[in-house]
Amino acid sequence: MLKIDLDMPAGVRAFSTLRGGGGPYSTPYHNFNVCRYTGDDLLHAAICAEILRRHLGVAAEAIVMPRQTHSDRVMTVESVPADAAALEGVDALVTDRRGVALCVNTADCVPVALADTVAGVIAVAHCGWRGVVNDLLPNTIAAMKRLGAEPGRIRASMGPSICPRCFEVGEEVASQFRSRWPVSVIDMGSGKPHVNLAAAIRCRLTADGLTDSNITDPGDCTHCTPQHFFSARREGVESGRMLTVVMLD
Ligand SMILES: [Zn+2]
Repeated sequence: MLKIDLDMPAGVRAFSTLRGGGGPYSTPYHNFNVCRYTGDDLLHAAICAEILRRHLGVAAEAIVMPRQTHSDRVMTVESVPADAAALEGVDALVTDRRGVALCVNTADCVPVALADTVAGVIAVAHCGWRGVVNDLLPNTIAAMKRLGAEPGRIRASMGPSICPRCFEVGEEVASQFRSRWPVSVIDMGSGKPHVNLAAAIRCRLTADGLTDSNITDPGDCTHCTPQHFFSARREGVESGRMLTVVMLD
C-alpha cells in the first residue's frame, strides 16, 4: 500500500492512499481501492481493506468508512463498531476516540483532514463542489466544537484532488460560488469557468475561525497524475478511489 502523508500535528496519523504500481493499469480499480460502492469487485476491495487494516494495526471494526453521497451530513463516531445504517449518506466523520480510523474515499474531490490535538478531536470530510457550496465544512467544525475543539487550534490539511486548471464546470455551478464567496474562486482564463476548490475550502475554514497558516493546500492533481491517482473525471465514476485516513494514535 503506497500513501502520502498529510500535514498533521504529532499524535495524528493522516494519509491518502495512492493507486500504487505506477500503471498502466488493467482495470479502473487497480491497484489499491477499498471503496465498495463504485463498481469494484468486492473481493478486490476486501483484500485491499485487509492490507489497510494490517498497516493501521487496528481491528476491522475500528475502520469507519461512510457511504458518501455529496451530502452535508456529519457523523460523530462515539463507539466501535459504528452504526452501519447511520453511515449511509454521510460525508464527514468526527471523533475524540483514539485508535478509530476515520476514512473518506475520493477521486478528484478534496479530502480534508482536521485535528485539534489539545482537545483530542479529529475529523475527515469529503469535499466535492456540492459539499463545499453546502455546509459540510461548517457542520464538521460545529461537530468538532461539540467535542471540545476550538477553531483557532484546528489544523486542516487537504489531500490529493483536482487542480483548478482541470476543474472546468458549467455556469450553473460557477454561479453558486460567485454568489456566496467574498473572494473569486472562479477562473475564466480559458473562457469556461474553472473552480479553485482548495481556495474555496480555505475561505470557508477561515470564516469558521481557523487560522490561515494552519491550513495546508493539496499537492499533485488527481486528474493530471494518472500514474498515482484515480480520477472520476478521467476514468468515469465507476472507478477506484483514494482513501484518506485520519486517526488519533
Ligand atoms: Zn490538474
